[in-house]
Amino acid sequence: MKEHIKDKFIYEGKAKKLYTLKGKTNKILQEFKDDATAFNALKKGTIQNKGVINNNLTAYIFKHLEKHGIKTHFVEKVSDTEMIVKRLKIIMIEVIVRNIAAGSLLKKTNLKEAQVLKNPIVEFYYKDDALGDPLINDSHAIAMKLANQKELNYLRKAALKINSLLIPFFKKRGLKLVDFKLEFGKDSKGKILLGDEITPDTCRLWDAKTNEKMDKDVFRFDLGNVNDTYANVKERIMI
Ligand code: C5P
Repeated sequence: MKEHIKDKFIYEGKAKKLYTLKGKTNKILQEFKDDATAFNALKKGTIQNKGVINNNLTAYIFKHLEKHGIKTHFVEKVSDTEMIVKRLKIIMIEVIVRNIAAGSLLKKTNLKEAQVLKNPIVEFYYKDDALGDPLINDSHAIAMKLANQKELNYLRKAALKINSLLIPFFKKRGLKLVDFKLEFGKDSKGKILLGDEITPDTCRLWDAKTNEKMDKDVFRFDLGNVNDTYANVKERIMI
């Protein structure tokens, strides 16, 4: 582990804090918190050990993706709750991939929960809390100058490739990847990298045999002991 000195606080999001690193301009420190929010922060709470679990899971999954040719912001894990990542200018689009109908898809379509989709659905949402992260199409994204057409095509292609790597990754660990959210950003050279995190906060994961929900839906809808759920997911994934 290389020496790093946490310098100035940059930003606090719902689940993470960002800091600059002394003497570095292109890398920052990402710290995972135990705080949990849902429904655009209308519901707030904490999940025991979530910072440690999500930091470890993101490091583990991003290393797996890198090994398979996906360029990510991940550099190295430096403590239980912190990792060094490349500094990105975040593209203000949440890219969601769905393999099984659940969540907000049930309110937009005639699909029923747990219906397996023949082809994955990729959606773009405008990352804006004040507007409630609305669903957008390519024309909206281009009109708002969030990205150009070539970049949108790249996001879609990268998201589908990540999906095709993660489905078997989770299957091997007794979990179905129902849907998940990705965020991308540009590094200092303008190259698009996968950013943010991949954790039970940002994925729907169901037990492969029972369809038991093993992700943030347990917190959102008070479905059981969320602390145990997150600990269990970490045990299953980090093999
Ligand atoms: O709510 P919805 O069904 O659109 O969410 C799809 C997937 O994206 C879920 O796995 C959810 O956890 C994730 N998501 C997220 N952050 C958001 C919105 C959705 O991680 N702001």
